[in-house]
Amino acid sequence: MYRIHNFSPGPAALPLEVLQQAQETFIEYGSSGMSVMEMSHRSGEVERLFVETSQLLLELLGLRSGYKVLFMGGGASMQFALIPMNFMTHDKAGHYILSGSFAEKAFLEARTIGDANVAASTKEKNWSSLPGIDEIRPGANSAYLHITTNNTIEGSQFHVLPDAGHIPLIGDMTSDLLGRSIDFTKFSMFYAAAQKNLGPAGVTVAVIREDLLERCAEQIPAIFKYSTYAQHGSLYNTPPVHSVFMMKLMLEWTKRQGGIKEMEERNSEKASLLYDAIDRSGGFYKGMIAESDRSKMNVTWRMLDDGLEKLFVQASERNGFEGLAGHRSVGGLRASAYNAVPVQACVELGAFLVDFQRRYG
Ligand SMILES: *Cc1c(COP(=O)(O)O)cnc(C)c1O
Repeated sequence: MYRIHNFSPGPAALPLEVLQQAQETFIEYGSSGMSVMEMSHRSGEVERLFVETSQLLLELLGLRSGYKVLFMGGGASMQFALIPMNFMTHDKAGHYILSGSFAEKAFLEARTIGDANVAASTKEKNWSSLPGIDEIRPGANSAYLHITTNNTIEGSQFHVLPDAGHIPLIGDMTSDLLGRSIDFTKFSMFYAAAQKNLGPAGVTVAVIREDLLERCAEQIPAIFKYSTYAQHGSLYNTPPVHSVFMMKLMLEWTKRQGGIKEMEERNSEKASLLYDAIDRSGGFYKGMIAESDRSKMNVTWRMLDDGLEKLFVQASERNGFEGLAGHRSVGGLRASAYNAVPVQACVELGAFLVDFQRRYG
């Protein structure tokens, strides 16, 4: 079997072990006589699957009581709309930290719902660094402060969280949840679409503190309300059962590897292998993000011109690497080294960077 080194930004690499487990259980789930995909979402098995998956996630995050885990469809992008729908009020605006294009998308979506304000922005710097933590000032009339903890497209990551005081902090952690330890208790809510660190596409997980859940707007459709999902154990309507099953396999894998702490160590090592090759290239490769704000999940860099970058992508594909072209909106190169990408893949990519420079530098 041939397995490429998959550096895709999402959907992204999954551990071979997880894929094999999924294959083994594809036709029969437990001793049920059917696939999990054929199973009623009203069955005891599916109910148990959802409870166990949410408990496992909270265990990995080190969160005890007071939080609800919700499994939802619609991707992270749907959360961009649901957050203002649920938590903006007639006299309280949503506040947004603009640190990259997904953060801006969340903000623009919120503006279609109501009053959304910018708490800090580095758009005028082309997102090449993050707003300073002290510059972030949600107004007193904030319904919440929204932060994108890792900017997947640009390759930046908040290493320190802002202090939102009594204002609920809501985090889009789509591209770094379970990738590093962070004080999750600072958040009233965080969410992640699965297709980066948590499994295949199809499900988005939202972790919400119960005091925020109580504030969900009443006058919105039930299907858009977080409290509906909480009250029904995410089984109000037919959920993406198979994607949740895959997430459970991925969480079990994460636990077997040693949990978040081990993931963080590996991710630091992986990122260093790539940043070192970039920084030692004497300008042949140029990192796109201020050093102190660099992401450990998405490593971005540029080369002299488009032509050389195209050549790099072509050569990388011939050498067994996938997904290294930068996002179409920013260009350049990007290596997304999520949890499931092995250290060895980054060792080899680091060596490839050096070798490519030797040939074309
Ligand atoms: C990938 C990503 C999104 C978009 O997720 P969808 O599931 O495609 O809606 C949003 N935010 C961040 C930080 C992401 O990495």
